[in-house]
Amino acid sequence: MSVILIALITHWYLSLFCQTFYLHRYGAHGMFSMPYWLDRVFYALTYITQGPSFLNPRAYALLHQAHHKYSDTAKDPHSPHFFASISKMMVQTYHDYHSLVREPKGMREDHYYPVWKSLDKFAGTWFNTFMWVGLYIFAYSFIVTAWWQYSFLLIHFLMGPIQGAAVNWFGHKIGHRNFDLPDKSRNTLPVDILLMGELYQNNHHAKPMSMNFASKWFEWDPTYPVIRTLLFLRLIKA
Ligand SMILES: [Zn+2]
Ligand SMILES: [Zn+2]
Repeated sequence: MSVILIALITHWYLSLFCQTFYLHRYGAHGMFSMPYWLDRVFYALTYITQGPSFLNPRAYALLHQAHHKYSDTAKDPHSPHFFASISKMMVQTYHDYHSLVREPKGMREDHYYPVWKSLDKFAGTWFNTFMWVGLYIFAYSFIVTAWWQYSFLLIHFLMGPIQGAAVNWFGHKIGHRNFDLPDKSRNTLPVDILLMGELYQNNHHAKPMSMNFASKWFEWDPTYPVIRTLLFLRLIKA
């Protein structure tokens, strides 16, 4: 059981880092730039860590840009204030996301959207889904000590969307507000270790281009020191 917990925690943070660092802060906001080879490395890492629930970076960026533009209004693609439950919000987001994968509408001319045509195409196939699901089951067969432990696989299968939905739901429902904004964004956790800074939604909506999602002395964004290190090493540029 302890090995399964280690596997879950490791997978959670690797996938989450790719979501917050690459998909969100880089792909959707363009807070920093990186050389093309490194862009491809993080694209591939996002694919590998999210596996069967890989989130297409361009569709993610378009959906997220609409979220900022129309935050908590009827046009917001995933405001929790327009859905009866988190699962209903996830289903609607799933449909909106897939229509943007098929037809990327609303692209801004001044923004760089990461695209890797062959990988995007492969990631969208059923073969890809079955391949990852098979790999996870195979890996689990070495570490389970009771049959019911296979149920944890569901978290691995849906890792990317689970993390996205947790941020979109709780980050606009529960927590404190540092900035009086027209939307309903909140900072859910005083120290956001679970979602690597993503749950500082109120700070992030107030300062969408700030690389540090924390704002007050008691808040800490665990992704920010990683960004600072990559900036220091000149691997990325502000
Ligand atoms: Zn938000
Ligand atoms: Zn954002």
